[in-house]
Amino acid sequence: MRRIAIIGGGISGLAAAFTLEKARREGALLDYVLYESGPRLGGVLLSERIDGCVLEGGPDSFLTEKPWARDLCRELGLEDQLVPSNDARRKTYILKHGRLVEIPDGLLFMVPTKILPILGSPLFSAHTKLRMAQEWFLPPRKSSPDETVAAMVERHYGREMVECLADPLLSGLYGGEASQLGVHAVLPRLVEMEAKYGSLGKAMLAARKQASSQGPARPLFTTLKQGMQQMVDTVVSRLPGASLWLKTKVEAVERQDRVWAIASESGSERFDGVIVATPAPVAARLVRQISGPLGAELLDIRYTSSITVNFGYDQRVRASLPPGFGFLVPSSERRRILAATFVHNKFPHRAPDDRALVRCFISGSRNEGVLEHSDEEILSIARRELQETIGLGADPLFSRMYRWKSVMAQYGVNHLERLERIDRSLSQFSSLALAGNGYRGIGVPDCIRSGNEAAGKLLASLGLAAGKPAQPSLRV
Ligand SMILES: Cc1cc2nc3c(=O)[nH]c(=O)nc-3n(C[C@H](O)[C@H](O)[C@H](O)COP(=O)(O)OP(=O)(O)OC[C@H]3O[C@@H](n4cnc5c(N)ncnc54)[C@H](O)[C@@H]3O)c2cc1C
Repeated sequence: MRRIAIIGGGISGLAAAFTLEKARREGALLDYVLYESGPRLGGVLLSERIDGCVLEGGPDSFLTEKPWARDLCRELGLEDQLVPSNDARRKTYILKHGRLVEIPDGLLFMVPTKILPILGSPLFSAHTKLRMAQEWFLPPRKSSPDETVAAMVERHYGREMVECLADPLLSGLYGGEASQLGVHAVLPRLVEMEAKYGSLGKAMLAARKQASSQGPARPLFTTLKQGMQQMVDTVVSRLPGASLWLKTKVEAVERQDRVWAIASESGSERFDGVIVATPAPVAARLVRQISGPLGAELLDIRYTSSITVNFGYDQRVRASLPPGFGFLVPSSERRRILAATFVHNKFPHRAPDDRALVRCFISGSRNEGVLEHSDEEILSIARRELQETIGLGADPLFSRMYRWKSVMAQYGVNHLERLERIDRSLSQFSSLALAGNGYRGIGVPDCIRSGNEAAGKLLASLGLAAGKPAQPSLRV
């Protein structure tokens, strides 16, 4: 019987546990323990129900285009619980000089693909509109050394596009700044498009044409009826309770002879394989005794903190709010809120018809000190800024705040080269794997894929392919 440890009970660690559990049920002779420092599983996936509304503390949905979260939900029998974003009402605003300005039709992410709506939009100056037209004639780029997302967008469309759109979009999605995030790791598709077409506009149109020939457009986001935690709860219900060690923080991972020794608050345990599924800086501390260079690379992956604040309102407020999914706030507006979602429009089933649900996103990327404020201060900052930006001064029926300390990985320039060095260090240890949002995607689907792959690596390296009895254990 082989023994595997998984460290971290977020969705990455849970996906790894689920893969191991499937192998175990199919006959692989293995046993595993999932260590989680906190009192609950799911990491930043956390949903609550208040006053008939489903509140999300962390992610509210996942990108439909990436298959791994959907696939997991299917395997869990949750297919009929999946709900698409209400794309018919998709409309997003940017706060500009204190007013909401609609992102014009034809802007795909930050790439213009339609002339007329953009020409008529007050979001951009005449100069930027001219740059958009000139962009169409850019030649394919032969070599593309990594650079920040801001640098790439500026080369194509100028500074205003970075400030007005790229930066707020990335802040809303990654809790980071366009001037810090590396384009190769964060937006690899744009890099490929630039290499092939030169113009991102031309490339996007070609991609859209190809997608429309493959059938009707899929919704941009997918979520679960009862909230994202429904996925967590269902995975957990399929795992043996004795394998889940809550409130057990791992302090160190060591190699002793040919086994792994895991030191935690509840003593030392020996395993044949280990999956570290914590944020990268925690992984760095855990593995630094095994490999100094690996620890150093992991420690250099930067993380930011974030806060979400949910406010519930009555029917009157609902009727007075703008249509659409919500708004994004560029840093030039000097606000603490980076984005606000009108949840009742984006996912109508999340709020009864007589309720409005507004979720504000605050990130430490612009000001890490914001996390030092008390709950009352943060609630009052969020309320004040909603009042000043969209005139929402009504008292909420309820409010709920969630703080997430150092949980959002920020892939800097040359992140992919760092991953190659990490992989080289890891290649010395066939029974050690990393999973989580610090490496190849921070979204929920990519985290699930990372957990699946980490478990697959250990099953293969320990000779635990399903149905195949393991060789005698190496445990001493
Ligand atoms: C506010 C917010 C909104 C987001 N929105 C979206 C979205 O809409 N769509 C999307 O796809 N993604 C979104 N993301 C990103 C995505 O949710 C995360 O990247 C992903 O869930 C991370 O999962 P994880 O398991 O890798 O890490 P985590 O969820 O951080 O889990 C790591 C776990 O490890 C545990 N741990 C840490 N140290 C130890 C230790 N020493 N011993 C034992 N356990 C330990 C922690 O307690 C935690 O439970 C969002 C993230 C946040 C914070």
